[in-house]
Amino acid sequence: MIHLKSRPEIEAIARSGEVVSALFQEIEARVEPGVATAALDSFVGEFVRSYEGAVPAFKGLYGFPGNACISINEEVVHGIPSRRTLREGDIVSVDVGVRRDGWCADSAYTFPVGEIGREASRLLAVTRKALHASVAAARSKNRVGDIGAAVVRTVRGTGFGIVRDLVGHGIGREIHEEPQVANVGRPGFGAPLAAGMVLAIEPMLSAGSEKIRTRADKWTVVTFDGAISAHFEHTVALTHQGPVVLTGGGIWDAAEPAANDSAAERVASPTASP
Ligand code: MG
Ligand code: MG
Repeated sequence: MIHLKSRPEIEAIARSGEVVSALFQEIEARVEPGVATAALDSFVGEFVRSYEGAVPAFKGLYGFPGNACISINEEVVHGIPSRRTLREGDIVSVDVGVRRDGWCADSAYTFPVGEIGREASRLLAVTRKALHASVAAARSKNRVGDIGAAVVRTVRGTGFGIVRDLVGHGIGREIHEEPQVANVGRPGFGAPLAAGMVLAIEPMLSAGSEKIRTRADKWTVVTFDGAISAHFEHTVALTHQGPVVLTGGGIWDAAEPAANDSAAERVASPTASP
């Protein structure tokens, strides 16, 4: 059952989204060699709770212990914050859900730690471009398969792999709602998209194998071959005027890539109507 959101509901989700994008701006300033991921996680908790009615939505979700999922290098998603410290040249993915006044937003951003290598840099750029392209495909009259197809098109020829065993999702009252939003797909296939849907679109790429495994901690998902991995995610409302990014602005504006599809990614407009 896919719940279509009303305009006030989309506005409520946008208010959660504002917290996440403001948070990432602050996180960027705190990502540096020597910082423990647990310290970043504490900051996430304090920052989110500083907004009235807002809580970190991942805390306790399926039993997850942290406020945020923080995943370094070959860790794809669901990294548990710990005393492990960031090192120069690492890439670190921070994935945060916020529930504010009962409505959720979900966003992820992969940060470079100090100077990173060319391959890592290219991986971040391509993953981000894949997010832009897949967000642009999130239009009513399209189908879910068009979103994954946009990721496939962007990544083809880059030598990178798409982590296909993990998917995006609908979002609203709950972090995870229907439908599933695969990061691979065929144009014109899958569930029809409609205005009023709110989707978390989240391509994850690997600089090597597309295969993943879960570590013994039962949470941390890593690439099978240890290749580095990047993850960018937006919460997006589908409206009659096209996709509206509800987690944009802030850090996302600062380093906007020259992607062809970036015009489709706009800061959430409170006047968006489904
Ligand atoms: Mg997420
Ligand atoms: Mg998500």
